[in-house]
Amino acid sequence: MTLDKETFNIFLSSIEKFVKNKLIPKEEVVVNSNTIPQEIVSEMKELGIFGLSIPKEYGGSNLSMEEEVKVAFELGKASPAFRSIAGTNIGIGSQTIVMAGTKKQKEKYLPKFATGEFIGSFALTEPDAGSDAMSIQTKAKKIGKKYIINGTKRYITNAPIANVFSVMARTKPEKLSSSISCFLVDANLDGITIGKPDTKMGQRGAITSDVTFNDCEVPEDALLGEKEGIGFTTAMKVLDKGRLHISAICVGLAERLLEESLNYSINRKQFGEPISKFQLIQAMIADSKAEILASKGLILNTAQKRDKGENVTLESSCAKLFSSEMLGKVADRAVQIHGGAGYMTEYSVERLYRDARLFRIYEGTSQIQQLIIARETINNFLKS
Ligand SMILES: Cc1cc2nc3c(=O)[nH]c(=O)nc-3n(C[C@H](O)[C@H](O)[C@H](O)COP(=O)(O)OP(=O)(O)OC[C@H]3O[C@@H](n4cnc5c(N)ncnc54)[C@H](O)[C@@H]3O)c2cc1C
Repeated sequence: MTLDKETFNIFLSSIEKFVKNKLIPKEEVVVNSNTIPQEIVSEMKELGIFGLSIPKEYGGSNLSMEEEVKVAFELGKASPAFRSIAGTNIGIGSQTIVMAGTKKQKEKYLPKFATGEFIGSFALTEPDAGSDAMSIQTKAKKIGKKYIINGTKRYITNAPIANVFSVMARTKPEKLSSSISCFLVDANLDGITIGKPDTKMGQRGAITSDVTFNDCEVPEDALLGEKEGIGFTTAMKVLDKGRLHISAICVGLAERLLEESLNYSINRKQFGEPISKFQLIQAMIADSKAEILASKGLILNTAQKRDKGENVTLESSCAKLFSSEMLGKVADRAVQIHGGAGYMTEYSVERLYRDARLFRIYEGTSQIQQLIIARETINNFLKS
């Protein structure tokens, strides 16, 4: 634990209250405006949400993994768009710098990530490179003391509001992880074009768009760690953490959907009785509850192992696969329990059902998690 238990519990309860009293009541505003209101972003900054995982010396609260997932369980109960604005600051944006950045890069970016003064954005995916991330075509060519970046990134979260991009670009032609480097690119540089926001199935308020780099010149010290070839491997190393965080968000959202289902089923009457009295409705409630608890247990157990310094690549992928698939089932049951009302936009389960669909796709699809789990399991077996 990096905060004493009492301080952490006070912090967690303030997050719980913030989600319940501030975020959930503003969900409709976010849907209608497709943006997070500035006063909410300011409160998120004040609460320290942007700096959860950043070391204290750089202004963050340096939560342990167990503490971070407990916070994510709470944040997940509100529309995922709220968390998304701080997602890169908490996750891959800051953690690659913590792990591999130079002192100068840490000092330049981490304090601003921690306060939320800088919004980070992670740019890996391209039109022809998604799951096969190692095949990216964006190139960074060194000329003198500069790198020139050319290429197009796709579906980049926070792109229109980002202050800094962590850009994965090829510095060598071979299809090897050591051919890909990470650049910390200030968003105001010339040669960067942000595409128009994508029209998505759900998660309004979390904006994605293309980002095109056209002869974008960055200084050589924008290279993560000032070393070529470490970007991809560093990003893969911090993914274990990101997958646990996302899994915990899935649990929070599933808990919210179950709560909405319980409220509805207790109040909705058919055949003269609340539908919660019907055993077929109860079966859906029971399955959702059991799966949520199973997910939560797996995430907490893995977070504790990671805090002890153990390798959790296998378990993190299991958590991401199980929790995102679990959320899909819970969301589907929530709509079913609401009957026709579940298909109507005035009930939040209709929106949350669409929001939930993304978790099986981004940060590694379910199929990619299955491949990792199988690879790790077979390797462990062969080593034993
Ligand atoms: C809303 C949203 C936000 C996003 N935010 C970001 C971001 O901020 N930064 C970023 O870099 N990216 C981001 N992404 C991209 C996201 O990570 C990719 O969409 C995801 O990794 C899948 O890649 P793809 O879309 O190219 O699908 P593909 O890789 O083309 O996959 C299509 C299908 O094929 C399957 N498949 C692929 N390879 C295999 C295989 N070897 N075996 C079995 N099945 C396979 C996949 O599981 C999937 O079902 C975002 C995407 C979305 C939709």
